[in-house]
Amino acid sequence: MLSEFGLIARYFQQPGLANAGPWSPQLGIGDDCAVMSVPEGYQLVVSMDTLVADVHFPAVASPELIGYRALAVTVSDLAAMGAEPAWFTLGLTLPEANSDWLAGFAEGLQTLAQKVGISLIGGDTTRGPLTITLQVHGLVKKEKWLSRQCAKPGDDIWVTGTLGDAAAWLPYLQQGVEEKPTDENLRTLWNRYYFPTPRVVEAQKAVALGCRCAIDISDGLLADLGHILTMSQVGAQLDFSSLPASQALQQLLPELEKQQQIMLTGGDNYELCFTAPPHLAGDITHSLSPLCPVSRIGQIIETPGVFTTSGQPVSISQQGYQHFN
Ligand code: ADP
Ligand code: MG
Repeated sequence: MLSEFGLIARYFQQPGLANAGPWSPQLGIGDDCAVMSVPEGYQLVVSMDTLVADVHFPAVASPELIGYRALAVTVSDLAAMGAEPAWFTLGLTLPEANSDWLAGFAEGLQTLAQKVGISLIGGDTTRGPLTITLQVHGLVKKEKWLSRQCAKPGDDIWVTGTLGDAAAWLPYLQQGVEEKPTDENLRTLWNRYYFPTPRVVEAQKAVALGCRCAIDISDGLLADLGHILTMSQVGAQLDFSSLPASQALQQLLPELEKQQQIMLTGGDNYELCFTAPPHLAGDITHSLSPLCPVSRIGQIIETPGVFTTSGQPVSISQQGYQHFN
């Protein structure tokens, strides 16, 4: 039986995780606290996510998928601020110390950690129902971050990638389908659910171009854009025909209305929704489209609420998933 310290040393103190990014801590895992220096001219950006088994992810999923996805969704919040990922801590509550599970989990974490350059600097390990808490620390140049409060009437509304794919996987997940599907379209949805790509580099480019307002789409476009609108005290006009649908979504859900519904309300995609003054449109397309698709889907307006291009209000029943409702 592995001791708590043996477990930490074996699975979490390894260089692949502890030195996954370029920002090494002055003191990492092993002491009472970690010590990091924020470089001159930068500010520290911090966020935390707690993921409970069978609420936020299926406990029976492979540990690699769980590890990758847990860190990806947490890093997505750093992306939404335009921050560069630097360090993270891991609070892990486990029913038992199973070596195979831990090795897989650490492997999944490492894949994403190395992809975005974030180093594991500490954490806490306890026994109990499987729960993963991740705190991520990122860096922004002074005063250069993206917030939900900065949308201005006249701004274009943009989204990265395609919408609705991860949500379209949920019915299969609820039917108990766990294996990677052989059908190509279904495999796309499966991949989008388990392997979200936090739009870290894209967001940093958007900041450099002068964008100041963004959110990551975790609960659905309407729900998350709604947070921007409320916090910026503005409204939006959305062009449904510009919502970006993947080939897979178009083929699996050919009915346009169903496609649009899932693109507007489906969560778990972790794409970025950001706004920008219209004069930046050319620069945005030029800088971001080599990295991922970007689509202009509407405009910020003064009147609160969400409207179609013909001026029809978009109904509240199209809002996304919320806890405690
Ligand atoms: P303390 O008793 O002071 O809280 P711990 O025994 O919990 O210390 O942890 C010892 C060291 O291992 C600390 O540096 C802590 O940050 C690190 N650590 C504990 N659990 C994890 C984990 N799940 N992932 C990464 N580091 C961890
Ligand atoms: Mg502790």
